[in-house]
Amino acid sequence: MTKVLHQPLGGNKMPRFGGPATMMRLPLLPSAEGLDVCFVGVPLDIGTSNRAGARFGPRQIRAESCLIRPYNMATRAAPFDSLSIADIGDVAINTFDLKKSIGIVESAFDEILSHNVKVLTLGGDHTIDIPILRAFRKRYGPLGLVHVDAHADVNETMFGEKYAHGTPFRVAVEEGLLDGKRCVQIGLRATGYAADDFDWPRRQGFRVVQAEECWHKSLTPLMAEVRDQVKGGPVYLSFDIDGLDPSYAPGTGTPEIGGLTTPQALEIIRGCRGLDLVGGDLVEVAPPYDPTGNTALTGANLLFEMLCVLPGVVYRN
Ligand code: MN
Ligand code: MN
Repeated sequence: MTKVLHQPLGGNKMPRFGGPATMMRLPLLPSAEGLDVCFVGVPLDIGTSNRAGARFGPRQIRAESCLIRPYNMATRAAPFDSLSIADIGDVAINTFDLKKSIGIVESAFDEILSHNVKVLTLGGDHTIDIPILRAFRKRYGPLGLVHVDAHADVNETMFGEKYAHGTPFRVAVEEGLLDGKRCVQIGLRATGYAADDFDWPRRQGFRVVQAEECWHKSLTPLMAEVRDQVKGGPVYLSFDIDGLDPSYAPGTGTPEIGGLTTPQALEIIRGCRGLDLVGGDLVEVAPPYDPTGNTALTGANLLFEMLCVLPGVVYRN
């Protein structure tokens, strides 16, 4: 099959506020067949513990992505020059049943990954990383992880339940989905139940970088250390939008003050360049809490930045 270099619909062909609201105004395809990279949405929020609403994340991220142009002025990345990229729509989760939805998402990702494609996921709450990481583990073996979040998401249970948006990385460790020595969590902060909330991942070999270590400085030097730690195998990038400060990203379910800035988010993602990234996600955008749309706008741009650091992207000189 010849590779088709799909291009985002340009603002000179159709006004940016017109046309179907696919991710970056790319074609909407029925499957990932023939693609190098696909965007996929998982509109699930029945794993949330506080404010629901992330079910609307994929749709609003797509809508706010309409302004994103194809070339990265800062890094010179031109992902659409060399990679076949499209939007393959949403996974049809069962919004009445979380456990069934986890199975549905895992099957959907098994099918997507069978096409040997890199996957960038529009969430959805963080519960979706349980089935996503299960599918990636089957294809790639234990994964390295760069995880940006206000929370460690390593609760053993929540309200007695094993599966919730605060448990995915506990489940991932327990099921051997991750290579603990190659895992980093950045931006963790705020109140907890006990010190163990952040020390448990440290005991699994994770590096935990709390938000206070990030305040008032560039994260570019940190990312050099992160690359050294997580390289040597496939890496997954999971970005919970609540890693950002609520002043930048109020539209989320469990906001915590004292978070990362948008420039720091760009430094983190750009700092992943050179890693063997096999996929990533942007989760926990909950549009009802941000009438400006800025949270989804930020999420859309961070997904574009993830696209720009995937292996195979060309950089124009
Ligand atoms: Mn999270
Ligand atoms: Mn979080």
